[in-house]
Amino acid sequence: MATEASPDISRRQFLATGGLTVAAACLAPGHLVAQTGGLVGGAFKEAATAKVTVQNLRRNITVLLGAGGNIAVLTGPDGKLLIDAAIITAHPNVSKALASINADPIKQLINTHWHFDHTGGNEWLHEAGASILAHENTRKHLSRPTRVEGNWQYTFPAAPAGAIPSTVFKDDHTLHINNTTVTLKHYSPAHTDSDISVYFTEADILHTGDTFWNRDYPFIDYGTGGSIDGHIRAAEANIAKVTEKTIVIPGHGAVGGKADLVLFRDVLVDIRNKVAALKKQGKPLPEVIAAKPGARYDAEWGNLFQNPADFVALVYQGV
Ligand SMILES: [Zn+2]
Ligand SMILES: [Zn+2]
Repeated sequence: MATEASPDISRRQFLATGGLTVAAACLAPGHLVAQTGGLVGGAFKEAATAKVTVQNLRRNITVLLGAGGNIAVLTGPDGKLLIDAAIITAHPNVSKALASINADPIKQLINTHWHFDHTGGNEWLHEAGASILAHENTRKHLSRPTRVEGNWQYTFPAAPAGAIPSTVFKDDHTLHINNTTVTLKHYSPAHTDSDISVYFTEADILHTGDTFWNRDYPFIDYGTGGSIDGHIRAAEANIAKVTEKTIVIPGHGAVGGKADLVLFRDVLVDIRNKVAALKKQGKPLPEVIAAKPGARYDAEWGNLFQNPADFVALVYQGV
């Protein structure tokens, strides 16, 4: 690998926690700024100035970290294939990072799921030459106004026409591009109902989208089909898919491997079981939060999208 990404690159560069102001959203496009402040508004602001780190992985595959969801880039004679499109306000820095890899034109984009930090660049990448491929539920959620609850509290308007995936699939899909076999597989509902994994066969690199967050508590989008138990099932599926040699690109956090997938699964299961036991005893959410079921992990895992209390609330909702 050409560069080493520190585990907290995306933590520092993606999102500050709380305290975000009206000014936060002013850098986002007009149709998104009607709702100001909050976690999503903060993400727009942060991504506008976030440094994008370019990390070479294996063969002709590179990852861009820091602009929202991690972007994988496959280069070659067929042009660039991107996995995910980051947050819209990161457009200038993502453009520069892509150009720094090489001059191959942008030809194809795959979205791992519908969330704004993975599809925000869809429209400009489409205008730059990319055709967009995703799961059918990604197209569904991008095609109409969609509300996200939890600590997002945000209603996303329907995406512009150019941002909507033109090709979708239901269970799995394979493409051959740049002498590479790319296998896409839909998870049963996990983080959302639109999640897919992307596997680069020859390079043995797996992009998990947001079914895996490397040392950060995940968001769980119940409104579009996500659940804690679905997240755990997806974590198990990811572990089953890889070997010790596989490079694993998470939706958020540093590039990792099988041991990181196992740790993520173990943390989710541990907290899920503790929260479920307390809920079964009849404890209301504030008491469960106060019991700190993730105390062993909170200092490291509770710094990005989800602080410890928000994550416990998401788990409590689903057990
Ligand atoms: Zn994400
Ligand atoms: Zn997501």
